[in-house]
Amino acid sequence: MQRESYDAIVVGSGISGGWAAKELTEKGLEVLLLERGKNVEHIKDYINATKPIWEYPHRGGRTYAMEEAHPVLKRDYPLNEKNLDWWVSDKDSPYTEIKRFDWFRGYQVGGRSLLWGRHSYRWSDFDFEANAREGIAIDWPIRYEDLAPWYDHVERHAGIAGSRDGLAQLPDGEFQPPIPLNCGEEIVAERMRGRFDGRRQMVHARVANLTQRLPGRSHCRYRNACWLGCPFGAYFSTQSSTLPAAMATGRLTLEPYSIVTEVLYDRDQKRATGVRVLDAVTERSTEYRARIVFLCASTLNTTWILKRSATDVWPGGLGSSSGELGHNLMDHHFRLGAEGILDEPGLDKKYYYGRRPAGFYIPRYRNLFGDKRDYLRGFGYQGGASRLGWQRAVEELGVGAAFKDKMAEPGEWRIGATAFGEMLPYHGNRVFIDETRTDKWGLPVLAIDCEMGENERLMRVDMMNDMAETLEAAGVKKVRTYDRGYAPGMGIHEMGTARMGHDPRTSVLNRWNQVWDAPNVFVTDGASMTSAACQNPSLTYMALTARAANYAVGELERHNL
Ligand SMILES: Cc1cc2nc3c(=O)[nH]c(=O)nc-3n(C[C@H](O)[C@H](O)[C@H](O)COP(=O)(O)OP(=O)(O)OC[C@H]3O[C@@H](n4cnc5c(N)ncnc54)[C@H](O)[C@@H]3O)c2cc1C
Ligand code: SF4
Repeated sequence: MQRESYDAIVVGSGISGGWAAKELTEKGLEVLLLERGKNVEHIKDYINATKPIWEYPHRGGRTYAMEEAHPVLKRDYPLNEKNLDWWVSDKDSPYTEIKRFDWFRGYQVGGRSLLWGRHSYRWSDFDFEANAREGIAIDWPIRYEDLAPWYDHVERHAGIAGSRDGLAQLPDGEFQPPIPLNCGEEIVAERMRGRFDGRRQMVHARVANLTQRLPGRSHCRYRNACWLGCPFGAYFSTQSSTLPAAMATGRLTLEPYSIVTEVLYDRDQKRATGVRVLDAVTERSTEYRARIVFLCASTLNTTWILKRSATDVWPGGLGSSSGELGHNLMDHHFRLGAEGILDEPGLDKKYYYGRRPAGFYIPRYRNLFGDKRDYLRGFGYQGGASRLGWQRAVEELGVGAAFKDKMAEPGEWRIGATAFGEMLPYHGNRVFIDETRTDKWGLPVLAIDCEMGENERLMRVDMMNDMAETLEAAGVKKVRTYDRGYAPGMGIHEMGTARMGHDPRTSVLNRWNQVWDAPNVFVTDGASMTSAACQNPSLTYMALTARAANYAVGELERHNL
């Protein structure tokens, strides 16, 4: 029979929850990991990992019926036949868009750790100090040096491939050897070195794909099919990395199909006592007790839980006494950049091996080192060079043997990159509970009210034009810019809504990710972010989670929790 009391409860088994479960069990705690979705077992449940495209009924594409059933997912690439099972059903779990917000979610054991793009970059003090320096929102209560040892810790276990580039705005880490740039990228990287006062640099993408083995995990085979699950365990996911470590302690209980609907709060003790859970299959309600609770349900779901908790004490929910719970929602705005053709003499004789799950990265250089723009903060680029394949044939509409032979040869070299820009933490960008609408389980849904500001709009001009300037300076031909449009959420880097801070009057969490109003509740996912930087955020969630878990266990030992 299921026990009802644990040392710790972790809500959500994605990137953050997996880390909380690993760290807390390894430090000796009996942990209950609650996950609202189904179980996904490592290897066994990667049912499409090696499936050839012709075995999919619709060749991996989408149908009208799929589009009708997935009104949000259809807005971008997530909707396709290959791994639809790992994306949320928009119909079962709707939400209210006050303004358009594309919320792309994965509800299963592993969360979006199974689906993510794996770019893993440290944030620097330029990011942690920016709010204070510019008087935006509130100051972060931590600095880079607080997180640096925890970045080391999580990088070693997760396995991050990357080069040590010595850049102040992108600190180096505990990396495995990088996934090499291909020869086309190397040419452009070399040409960039002498330009732009050395400030725009092309470095290896830093990705959570193994180039060396780790215990129980093999190195990457360059199939670039990670989002179908990796039978080699070669990319970081909860299943390949943190869950096995937590399970190995013998102290983890994993409960899928468990929707946490609220944190139970004792107003006399000013402490959480546990959580209430709705069984997603039987719809039976259960309560579990624990000494500490880690909320890792993903940015907006964590805030949904907080807003539904302790409403008899604070009508706005647990953590709302500052009035900031639900506010300051952020994402990374993107989908614009430039691309062109590399026609270096001799390059057409060169090719590359495999389908790398990585490319290059150009770290932020705007509003740094004396550069001053008419907007705040900056952006980085993710891109790659490759040779066109047979797909180019549809443009040529040719027939005959000569045409067929030509299509068997690789096409011209292309290179391009997309910018990812920082969004400021605007108080007006917020989420709240929409009491007028319910989901499949009769639970009220979240309403999201978020938009880009003038700062982001101004930044986007540089994001697009700078890439064209960079490529042209590196000798790339026929460069063209593009802006495919962006709606908040599309970056799938939603952050904020329960920010960290120095002061309980202006923030939801303290410097250890503890809810000011309930010190035994920790929020360590993207909800805790005080600003967004422009680097991908998940590595920072991992480091924050490991740091908070270490602190929580220390506080338990000191009898402070
Ligand atoms: C296609 C794609 C590409 C991406 N690329 C990158 C990238 O390159 N780099 C990067 O840093 N980030 C990337 N991301 C973002 C990254 O996936 C997220 O930042 C990260 O997964 C967030 O971790 P999390 O633990 O907060 O949430 P998730 O990984 O989403 O996990 C949350 C879990 O909580 C569960 N849950 C939710 N509500 C409840 C509840 N009430 N009760 C119980 N369980 C609940 C969910 O089912 C889920 O399993 C990408 C995401 C996608 C989808
Ligand atoms: S590219 Fe590497 S990590 Fe991704 S699925 Fe293939 S072997 Fe696994």
